[in-house]
Amino acid sequence: MCGIFGVIGQDTNAVQTTFNGLKDIEYRGYDSWGIASWNIEDGIWKIEKNTGFLPKIMDSRFRGNDGVGLAIGHTRWATHGGVTQINAHPHKDCSGKLVLVHNGIVENYLELKKTLKSHNLKSETDTEVIVHLIEEALKKNGLNQAVLNIFQKLRGLNAIVVSDGNEIIAAKVGSPLIAGVGNGKLFIASDPNALLPHTKKLVFLQDNQLIRLNKELELYNSLNSRKLQPIITTVPWEHSTSGLQKYKYFLEKEIYEQPKALRNIAQNAKEVEQVAGMIRKAYGTFFIACGSASYSCLLGVYLFSKIAKKHVNFSVGSEFNYIEDYIKPKSLVVAVSQSGESIDTLEPVLSAKKHGAKTVALVNVLGSTLYRSVDFPVLLRAGVEKAVCSTKALTAMFAHMVFLSYCLVGKRKTAQKIILESAREIESILKRRSAIKNLAGKIFHQKNIFILGRGLSYPVAMESSLKIKENAYIHAEGFAGGELKHGVIALIEKNTPVIVFVPEDETKQAILANAMEVKARGAFIIGVGPENNPVFDFFFKVRDVGASSVIPHPVFAQLLSYYLALKLGLNPDRPRNLAKSVVVR
Ligand code: GLU
Repeated sequence: MCGIFGVIGQDTNAVQTTFNGLKDIEYRGYDSWGIASWNIEDGIWKIEKNTGFLPKIMDSRFRGNDGVGLAIGHTRWATHGGVTQINAHPHKDCSGKLVLVHNGIVENYLELKKTLKSHNLKSETDTEVIVHLIEEALKKNGLNQAVLNIFQKLRGLNAIVVSDGNEIIAAKVGSPLIAGVGNGKLFIASDPNALLPHTKKLVFLQDNQLIRLNKELELYNSLNSRKLQPIITTVPWEHSTSGLQKYKYFLEKEIYEQPKALRNIAQNAKEVEQVAGMIRKAYGTFFIACGSASYSCLLGVYLFSKIAKKHVNFSVGSEFNYIEDYIKPKSLVVAVSQSGESIDTLEPVLSAKKHGAKTVALVNVLGSTLYRSVDFPVLLRAGVEKAVCSTKALTAMFAHMVFLSYCLVGKRKTAQKIILESAREIESILKRRSAIKNLAGKIFHQKNIFILGRGLSYPVAMESSLKIKENAYIHAEGFAGGELKHGVIALIEKNTPVIVFVPEDETKQAILANAMEVKARGAFIIGVGPENNPVFDFFFKVRDVGASSVIPHPVFAQLLSYYLALKLGLNPDRPRNLAKSVVVR
């Protein structure tokens, strides 16, 4: 999964344009980056690439191709081949005339590589195979036909952008690509947001389409090489961007933005009421999501049962495929995603559509692939989320589940009231954050942290453990309170931290009993809830806000994971091995 950006035309500084474009899409992968720019006078490609994050600003190494009109760039999330400079994209052919960037996995690359014995491949990537195959195909065809021929041979979900210095050719199956039509310039990118500073006239490539950007823009069906009429859509969207302001890290800033996001959500009842109406009418409702978003769906299962006495199904996106057979045309599939680009969430939506089901998205990014793919998109209204670990988008998802479950039984106002109360409680937690910082100082050297919750707090426990894993690289596991004793209790040692969520609800006595069970084995009990208890070794008060208590509770874990990361010298905005949006299977 990666970010792609390219530009061709009357651009006096294609390199800077591409660099800025990559900044907008670096969330898609930050193992390495690279930019190839074409110098017409010398007739050569200048390629700058390296491991790690994009440099903060364009520095001296980019000089030399300042005035060029063609550049393509890439930010990588490695799938095939280590995180090295050689494996970073763009890749070149043997002649040095072609450069190529790629998003996806060429599933048959080993088989294809066997046909390239006479070629000198330098990297371990599946990507490099493609550019050498195109070089071979160029012996008999022009570039456009050569790319068409080779793209058909690639198995898997792939997007490629290739150039010979005269034109840019891009093709896709699965992974997103959007072309932009500017004034004397044409663009290509993995995310429409990166194009919006330049143009609002966009061509959303469909699967099995190839686009040729030269002086004009030409579109082809990549399966049969037939020319197609491109549909240019003028979108009303604004470029969304977010600065650090007074904060050092986006993670911290976004944790602080949660009360504002919640107030925004509480005011937007119209779409939520519409989705509640769709759930009411549906033959069955199926929620799908990945990572943090999947815990919001699990929460939905509990909330819909408790508040609306309604059964809904849930599956993580990558498993939907194996349990989708009972989806009917009257079913409703609700996909939940921050970025709207996770392939594991998008594929189930396409499958659900094949079954004839109606589709809804709860999604944070306007214009994302998911936003455009469903029958009814609802924006989560959390605002731009840049840190890799989701905080305010997750809170927005939890709040939407609370909102939906109450709207299902006509209690919109109750939902609005408790969502606003949860915003106030988050403000109170933020004011008391130094207690959480002190706790991080006590437990940062631990190798295991366990987190327990029952009922509505079970998804909260799961989400909290993910935050700690992502930000602090400490093994953390969330459990339904009753489950730990069925095996994992064997891992409890003296001083193992166990966080217990204890709201004032029907789970209270049972979860306190679970806390006692692990305390008896030496655990260090961290209690979170409205009331202190003798079993707690550390207590952090979070006032109860009914079913909405699930909204402030994860904020405790967000802050804990943030302070653990700082204590361990880690960058909380860029956890290792991750990308903000997971766009490969
Ligand atoms: N499979 C390619 C690689 O590992 C592309 C990965 C990506 O989409 O970033 O380089």
